[in-house]
Amino acid sequence: MRLPLSKWKVLRRVALFLLLALGAGWLFDAAWQFCLLVALVLLGWHYKHIFMLDRWLWQDKKLTPPAGDGVWQQVFDGIYTQQRRDRKKRKELRALVRRFRDGAEALPEAIVVLSKDWTIIWCNQLAQILVGLRWPSDHAQRIDNLIRHPEFQQYLQQGDFKAALELASPMNEELTLEFRLIPYGESEQLLIVRDITHLKQLEQIRKDFVANVSHELRTPLTVLQGYLEVMEADELPEQGVWRKAHPVMLEQTRRMDSLVQQLLTLSRIESSSRGNFDTVVDVPAMLVVLQLEAETLNREKQHRIQFDIEPGLKVKGIAEELRSAFSNLVTNAIKYTPPGSDIQVSWKRQHQKAVFAVNDNGDGIAPQHVKRLTERFYRVDSARSRANGGSGLGLAIVKHVLSRHNSRLIIFSAPKEGSSFSFSLPAELVIPVKKKSQLAKAKG
Ligand code: ADP
Repeated sequence: MRLPLSKWKVLRRVALFLLLALGAGWLFDAAWQFCLLVALVLLGWHYKHIFMLDRWLWQDKKLTPPAGDGVWQQVFDGIYTQQRRDRKKRKELRALVRRFRDGAEALPEAIVVLSKDWTIIWCNQLAQILVGLRWPSDHAQRIDNLIRHPEFQQYLQQGDFKAALELASPMNEELTLEFRLIPYGESEQLLIVRDITHLKQLEQIRKDFVANVSHELRTPLTVLQGYLEVMEADELPEQGVWRKAHPVMLEQTRRMDSLVQQLLTLSRIESSSRGNFDTVVDVPAMLVVLQLEAETLNREKQHRIQFDIEPGLKVKGIAEELRSAFSNLVTNAIKYTPPGSDIQVSWKRQHQKAVFAVNDNGDGIAPQHVKRLTERFYRVDSARSRANGGSGLGLAIVKHVLSRHNSRLIIFSAPKEGSSFSFSLPAELVIPVKKKSQLAKAKG
């Protein structure tokens, strides 16, 4: 390693030149002229090196520095070492970027690196195939200018990227793509696009299969149930297996029928597109009917059931689906609580939303089950649920109904303390109350 330039050494050398000039000047009686001459020689020498440096930096293609003298050699070598260091660093950086790009190209997803203002910094090849971007010509273009789908624009504007967005590919309508935006670094964003066509097809096959099987099972079940119901118990022989088998067969066919009905309901809700939210549902009237049904169901168990319904609180939605959600929650509270429990059902306006809640003081549910209750066929105690005529589909139906109404089921439950099942319908679905002046106007 070279030592840094010594200030004293340089000053000493300059002083020596001056002394020599003064000495020679004294001899010839021309001290100042000699000093001027030495200064001019020194200046010329420095200019020569400045020109050498300039030629090396801007014109020569050579990497090695020119051969200089004295202090200038030190400067040339310093620049050369710095350049070598920079070149090495640039090489390392280029290798790193190449490795990152190769990695991103090897991914089975389309990757687009975006800046804070949605302009494209880089995209891989799959982004060109799936989304139709062009590289490098689309560099620095805004992504929302290239993907013009209104839902995509909305997705970018709403700013909440926890959920992914599903869209048809702009290149091929038959492909379904999943768009996911991940902020990273200081202000960059990563747009990851996945082809989920195959997953969608599988999901559709599953839905169709369940719907078809349920549909096909309906006819034979109806026939069986019909015959069993008309078969008068009196006509059966007093003794023998038929007398025992008949009620069991009838009960089991009814259970199967209810299971098939629930599966069909679930398939219908799943496959129907966004509902007709222009229909006004008179929930208070619906809950009055439900209260009567609950009282009939409650005859055996003698629960204390209280309904607290806000009159006139109507919502926009799909009546049949909402009825099914209300009914499932109330029926569950009756079915899964010990006799004599307290059950409170309420339908209230809260902060412009409509809140439905069913609270009971039954046995409650252990925490490990609570988060799984809305899965299909999930039952806390299969034997008990089956004995109650349950299939484990009730809360799955509620979940789907609520998701179609932009809401979700909230469950609080603790063993021995009881349970609370509730949901709130968003303000945009709630019919606003008419003010007195409006009512008077309407009457007038
Ligand atoms: P099912 O259709 O069999 O009634 P659900 O999906 O409606 O099934 O409910 C799933 C499980 O949740 C039930 O098996 C039951 O164990 C539990 N559960 C539902 N509601 C309550 C409640 N109010 N109290 C205690 N357990 C409940």
